[in-house]
Amino acid sequence: MLIERGRLRPFDGTITGADPFAVIENGALVTDDGEVVDCGTATAMIEAYPDAAIVDSSDLLTPGLTDSHIHYSQTRIIGTFGGGLLEWLESVTFPEEQKFEDPAYAREIAKEFFDTLEAVGTTAATVYCTSNPVSVDALFEEALTRNIRVSAGLVMMDRNAPSPLLTPAQEAYDQSRALIEKWHGADNARLTYTITPRFAPTSTPALLEAAAALWDEFPSCGMQTHLSENTAEVEWVRRLFPKAPDYLGVYEMFGLVGPGAIFAHAIHLTDREVGLLAESGSVVAHCPTANRFLASGRCDVARLLKAGVRVKLGSDIGAGTTFDMMEVAEEAEGVPKRGRPPAGALS
Ligand SMILES: [Zn+2]
Repeated sequence: MLIERGRLRPFDGTITGADPFAVIENGALVTDDGEVVDCGTATAMIEAYPDAAIVDSSDLLTPGLTDSHIHYSQTRIIGTFGGGLLEWLESVTFPEEQKFEDPAYAREIAKEFFDTLEAVGTTAATVYCTSNPVSVDALFEEALTRNIRVSAGLVMMDRNAPSPLLTPAQEAYDQSRALIEKWHGADNARLTYTITPRFAPTSTPALLEAAAALWDEFPSCGMQTHLSENTAEVEWVRRLFPKAPDYLGVYEMFGLVGPGAIFAHAIHLTDREVGLLAESGSVVAHCPTANRFLASGRCDVARLLKAGVRVKLGSDIGAGTTFDMMEVAEEAEGVPKRGRPPAGALS
């Protein structure tokens, strides 16, 4: 047994129970063969485990960090400039995602992706793959070999992207369904499936219906998509879905709003959309570094929280500029950058 003494951010095993800002300055983490056994004040832990070896740590001892919005297929294009959102998708993202039809490439990136998450202390992530099932299998197969909690899904797109990335709605439904049956709940439920229509502009009504049908059939799956990241995108959605009251209204029309839904960005919202996000129990994935990189605007998190919307943080790699959720949190708070934490600062 080992006692690591240092600054400790305690965790009682529940999301709501522990004070997220509490830090014990003279804390200690007790592990047995790498598994966490206990934590608390150093005095109490040394008394409770008198036979354990003691080491002093300059690290912040903290539970693993969670990334609620990340594209593993964009690991290698992080920081690649390509204009605003729509131009960036066209010139940088879609060409890279086409490479994932090659299983060897997908496996290589999946390894690189999890290596990077481990290095920055991320132990749970909600992930976009590509529209090729090969990319989903590669991600989950690699996840099986890691101590990580992953929810991920096949990107569903049937218009407004290069044709090799498009899949007709019925086929996207069939492929997603097969992947749900294969991966949802795997590895003692550490691996789960999230139904993933990319966003309204790359979806026909039939595709959104297919996504909703999957969610009806498998309600324990998550559902993730993008919402109101950029004003040109919002305008485009208005033209594509003229009957919808607003952007979120498109997803609402197809039954894609509710608990278990994660909407990334949610920057340019009407009051109706904010109210609907709150009352439906949906989650917003706030991705501040990506919003800065693509000059999309700034999400008014205070407005969302005041309305009762649940907000999580996402790196949104590769539009995001860092995998490190500590840096994403700093950007969200708008505090001046203090640079990267010293090596080994995350445990
Ligand atoms: Zn994204």
